[in-house]
Amino acid sequence: IKASVLDGIQYEDEMAGEPEVSAAKSLSEKLQEDKKSLPIFPYREELLQAINDHQILVIVGETGSGKTTQIPQYLHEAGFTKDGKKIGCTQPRRVAAMSVSARVSQEMGVKLGHEVGYSIRFEDCTSEKTILKYMTDGMLLREFLGEPDLASYSVIMVDEAHERTLSTDILFGLVKDIARFRKDLKLLISSATLDAEKFSDFFDSAPIFKIPGRRYPVDVHFTTAPEADYIDAAIVTVLQIHVTQPAGDILVFLTGQEEIETIDEILKHRTRGLGTKIAELIICPIYANLPTELQAKIFEPTPEGARKVVLATNIAETSLTIDGIKYVVDPGFCKIKSYNPRTGMESLLINPISKASAMQRAGRSGRTGPGKCFRLYTAYNYENDLDDNTIPEIQRSNLANVVLSLKSLGIHDLVNFDFMDPPPSEAVLKALEQLYALNALNSRGELTKVGRRMAEFPLDPMLSKMIVASDGYKCSEEIISIAAMLSVGNSIFYRPKDKQVHADNARLNFHTGNVGDHIALLNVYNAWKETNFSTQWCYENYIQVRSMKRARDIRDQLEGLLERVEIEITSNPHELDPIKKAITAGFFHHTARLQKTGAYRTIKNPQTVHIHPSSGLAQVLPRWAIYHELVLTSKEYMRQVTELKPEWLVEIAPHYYQLKDVEDSSTKKMPRGQGKAPIS
Ligand code: ADP
Ligand code: MG
Repeated sequence: IKASVLDGIQYEDEMAGEPEVSAAKSLSEKLQEDKKSLPIFPYREELLQAINDHQILVIVGETGSGKTTQIPQYLHEAGFTKDGKKIGCTQPRRVAAMSVSARVSQEMGVKLGHEVGYSIRFEDCTSEKTILKYMTDGMLLREFLGEPDLASYSVIMVDEAHERTLSTDILFGLVKDIARFRKDLKLLISSATLDAEKFSDFFDSAPIFKIPGRRYPVDVHFTTAPEADYIDAAIVTVLQIHVTQPAGDILVFLTGQEEIETIDEILKHRTRGLGTKIAELIICPIYANLPTELQAKIFEPTPEGARKVVLATNIAETSLTIDGIKYVVDPGFCKIKSYNPRTGMESLLINPISKASAMQRAGRSGRTGPGKCFRLYTAYNYENDLDDNTIPEIQRSNLANVVLSLKSLGIHDLVNFDFMDPPPSEAVLKALEQLYALNALNSRGELTKVGRRMAEFPLDPMLSKMIVASDGYKCSEEIISIAAMLSVGNSIFYRPKDKQVHADNARLNFHTGNVGDHIALLNVYNAWKETNFSTQWCYENYIQVRSMKRARDIRDQLEGLLERVEIEITSNPHELDPIKKAITAGFFHHTARLQKTGAYRTIKNPQTVHIHPSSGLAQVLPRWAIYHELVLTSKEYMRQVTELKPEWLVEIAPHYYQLKDVEDSSTKKMPRGQGKAPIS
């Protein structure tokens, strides 16, 4: 198998000599030239005509052809924003929404946030002036809550449709419905892959507009034997390319921030020893939590004589196009969410990618010239172990959030919702059950007052329930700080390799009294607030100041939302139990009990889990624990853990736990028949 796995590759000479841009040219002239050189440009008129002729159009074109950045501009130029209406373009990833809108605002010569803006969760960079709005698919979903007919939009472009994220799939059903009664609304469904027939079928045989791509041949190399450690293999491959291959940048696909940081560090270390004969290797990471100012670095042209290596998550597969990539290193893995509707457990897993993904990844190297792709797996693995396509997220997710959103949109009949691929009915039932247990739905499946309040928060139902419940425990002040800190993700604490002991000690200061990770996060936030949000304090305590600023932003917004749902700001700083009870009110599905072995077992639907080594309770091992999330690495780990009093479960979630679920087994010889607890 060589390049033949990439079907449809054509070589086009016309691109060989791109016009030289003289230094005298202004940036804006250069940008205008760039726009004209994109594959989509020659089809501008034809495309606009097709959009005029049809209400719904499916648009297919290779990554980098200009769909995301150009089509909204064309529509604007063609008058679709004349009567004050907006053009909305959805992206599955927030980094893409930010980066693409930044590019478009530059091309149009306007300030980001004015005519061109973006909206992602907890960050609205738009204004009254905004006419081209890039947003995550999840944000458009939330806009339906306030504007069910999307009246302020003249065009909705559901971009990157092939990604089939949960939100995109729900949007499909909703926008299809709106298009029926809003004949003036144009709907564009754009995708980077060729299997657009499915989109066309779903949208009542909407015509497909194909933008012919430019692709150069890609030479695909497999390893001859499976690699035991793909991280190491990736590093070696990058260095090999750097030392032996002609100029051209490298793109490495990794599964997440941690992997990227590890490789970044090792590469920096190893290239130091290469000597001055070898060209400089510029390392550029890109992942969802990377600070905005650093995100732009991947697009900076590589200086003459140097080579750039981009360490990216799946975001570089189709969402972002980085010019100049000639070599792709593909370890063949990505992190995906997986959900077991039987147990109700959701976990992030590192999984082999699909063949479709492997082809997309390889294709990234052949955009501006012939490329090479190094797959860190064998041809046999490729043929036999990789699925053809990735399973749509809707079929492997906890649907509680979606069900809550749809219910608050007044869509009660979930079974007959117009899904492109329906979720497993088991998962829908489980979501209804969970929302019922959270008291968001009543026994007839209708939204309760609690549920209505929960739906106002752009958070998972368990987090929003925790917030709503804090009202009763008079600690909303503390709970929104905790919710904000949890929403930032695992980037609060900073642990440099050469100062791990210091960093760990600093972190333990916040855990005094074994208060648990949730309260430790609260302690961090409050201590920072007391220093008047000092940056210096963050440095001294090995805390990432950026993450803290983000937490503060999120917290401000949550505070605003509290007001909207009429929850008073109340504080009870000296009593931890009410705070822990509010956490329990949201997260009682996430509980585990210590076993004799030192491992934990989840209380309902027993499964063996462990406390994550980064937890302040990792050495303490409380008998009962409540956790924020499960992550599977070498083991199934609970992340963000707090000690729990088992009687709280019966007090707070009596319809989910009965006394016999929480009787302490330590007084008995054998653990009780786990998993046989009757469902209440
Ligand atoms: P598509 O959506 O068809 O994949 P895009 O519209 O995203 O294509 O990209 C078109 C071109 O714009 C690409 O050459 C890409 O490199 C460039 N581009 C997109 N975003 C940025 C950015 N933030 N900075 C610099 N160039 C960008
Ligand atoms: Mg795009």
